[in-house]
Amino acid sequence: MSTGPITVGEITAAPGQRARGFLSVEVGKGLSVRMPVVIINGKADGPVFAVTAGVHGAEYPGIEAAIRLSRTLDPAEVRGALLIVPVVSVPAYQRRAIYVNPLDGINFNRVCPGNPMGTVTEMMADLLFKNVIAQADYYMDLHGGDMIEALVPFTLYYKTGNEAVDAKSRALAEAYGIPIILGSTVLRGGTYGAAAAMGKPSVLTEAGGQGILDEPSAQTHMRGVLNVLRRFGGLPGQPEAVPVAEYYSRFVWLTAEQDCVYYPKVTVGQQVREGELIAEFTDLFGEKIGELKSPATGPVLFLVTSPAINKNDPLMAIGSR
Ligand SMILES: [Zn+2]
Repeated sequence: MSTGPITVGEITAAPGQRARGFLSVEVGKGLSVRMPVVIINGKADGPVFAVTAGVHGAEYPGIEAAIRLSRTLDPAEVRGALLIVPVVSVPAYQRRAIYVNPLDGINFNRVCPGNPMGTVTEMMADLLFKNVIAQADYYMDLHGGDMIEALVPFTLYYKTGNEAVDAKSRALAEAYGIPIILGSTVLRGGTYGAAAAMGKPSVLTEAGGQGILDEPSAQTHMRGVLNVLRRFGGLPGQPEAVPVAEYYSRFVWLTAEQDCVYYPKVTVGQQVREGELIAEFTDLFGEKIGELKSPATGPVLFLVTSPAINKNDPLMAIGSR
């Protein structure tokens, strides 16, 4: 709640103002990492919403939506405030790196809420959580399928066991409007899980993929954030009607047992049955070295589209009730 100034690092916005700048952290050897931040401080009182994108640096539709929202939301209309970080993992964005931060090889979405004495990525997570997430009442983290991922849009939230927080996270997921929602009890160091564990209703939303900045996915994120703002009192007006969601309670993740050339036998969104052949693997001479049968029945929500696979790499994920 705020009718006073809001400060993130060295950036301050008075009520009715938009302010921009960078959060920075020194990560050793005189090297600093900077994260762009936009504060939109509404004239009227209301909740504080944090919106991040680019936790994975090549997930462009979420990044684009965050940039547009940071420029177009009017502080005269906003109630409460928005803290928007359009690109969290700037080193990964700059290098077009998938999954991990190229400076230390760590996935930001496994180390939240970070550690000020840790690796580069852990320090960046600590910077984000202490300066941005700690001030928020609600948190949305916008993703879009990484450079080698195709997916069906879905929203994740973490079930903390605190019913008040969990109900709000679920309501946030529903308001966002993506009709597949996965509420999980597994805490894996993700942004949304760490924030929910701090008592902040949170979601991670996925729309997009394969390194493409596609307009429909950017629109999904734009509409999602605007719907949440209207639903939770950050903007006047009613959220738009959204489709009834299907719920899943976990991802069945499939990973590679060996280095291989990967030939998925399914497409993203396809329903598969337990025992169905879903992938084949060859060596670099084309000799078949393995196949994969589905351990679950459900939709393929997430599919790696690169044939170049290393041992332990993810291959696909199936939604399971
Ligand atoms: Zn991601």
